[in-house]
Amino acid sequence: MKGVEFPLFKTKVESLEKRFELTDVDQRRKYFRAKAGKEIERLRDYLQENTFIAYLLGKKNSGKGTYARMFREIVDPRRIEHFSIGDMVRALDEVVNNKKKQKELREVLERNYRGFLPLDDIIKALEKRSTKVLLPSELILALVKMEIAEKPKKALFIDGFPRELDQISYSLFFRDLIGYRDDPDVFVLIDVPEKVIDERIKYRVVCPKCQTSRNLKLLPTKKVEYDAKNDKFVLICDDSECGGVPLKPKEGDEMGIAPIMARLQTDEKLIKKAFSLHGIPKVLLRNSVPVDKADDYVDDYEITPAYSYENINGSVKTIKAPWQIEDDDGVLSYSLLPPPVVVSLIKQMVDALAI
Ligand SMILES: [Zn+2]
Repeated sequence: MKGVEFPLFKTKVESLEKRFELTDVDQRRKYFRAKAGKEIERLRDYLQENTFIAYLLGKKNSGKGTYARMFREIVDPRRIEHFSIGDMVRALDEVVNNKKKQKELREVLERNYRGFLPLDDIIKALEKRSTKVLLPSELILALVKMEIAEKPKKALFIDGFPRELDQISYSLFFRDLIGYRDDPDVFVLIDVPEKVIDERIKYRVVCPKCQTSRNLKLLPTKKVEYDAKNDKFVLICDDSECGGVPLKPKEGDEMGIAPIMARLQTDEKLIKKAFSLHGIPKVLLRNSVPVDKADDYVDDYEITPAYSYENINGSVKTIKAPWQIEDDDGVLSYSLLPPPVVVSLIKQMVDALAI
């Protein structure tokens, strides 16, 4: 990230000659056991009796959710929760439009909400809400409390809070306010080059039936077809229940990050602000590694490949090659696949929790 240097993290193990196919679920488990087995055990032991709150801070589309979900899956799905404020707010739409549920929500908020805006104004704002309107921090807090109270206490990855600069100081008291007073909290800061985010958006495609999201350039399906009419290659959904339907781009995605530049700039300010905080442990995750240093720090199978296609007499040949991009400082770099970033998350989390 421009102006802030995230350290490189070494996931390469010279003595480990075995290669792992990281898109395969079973191979991925073996990979994590080989590269972070000891730390995973320590985290599991810790989670028997303890929890933590981790705030995920990264730019929009930086893969925050992917990293947290993978960490949860590998370490202990029963004792870790990935909590997306965005998902929670979207789920509210349904509540707000249903009179009975709205009444329940109001009752809960009357018990839990403390803030400067009257509750009636908030409910009205929710009814008319466009995604651009930011909900007051006090309301988010009350809603998180409501969700957490229903479940047994777990370690939390909070995704989407703080979202604005003035919410950072709020997050410092968050754990006290939701009843996690004695549990440690950690900031997880994620650095992904904007060029990576740009291409993830430009080439992403979605199955119209099952909504599975893939990427024509970075994450293809098994079957690829050539669409002669439009002179384009299309990914075919792997799910047999979708009946060979092609995955489609979403309108506007061809513009990449251009429409979300303002959001990315705010996110960058947030990350930098959190970076300079004292007294709270920080985990620094880096998605890219300079091409000229890659060999010292990572194994080649940990690097994101790029795919291109060739039409040879009606049958499509997939070509896989290393994907090189410039990072935000213009340094020629590779982008890492999620698993090595999660290895770094696991190891740094053990340090941050001092276990
Ligand atoms: Zn599908």
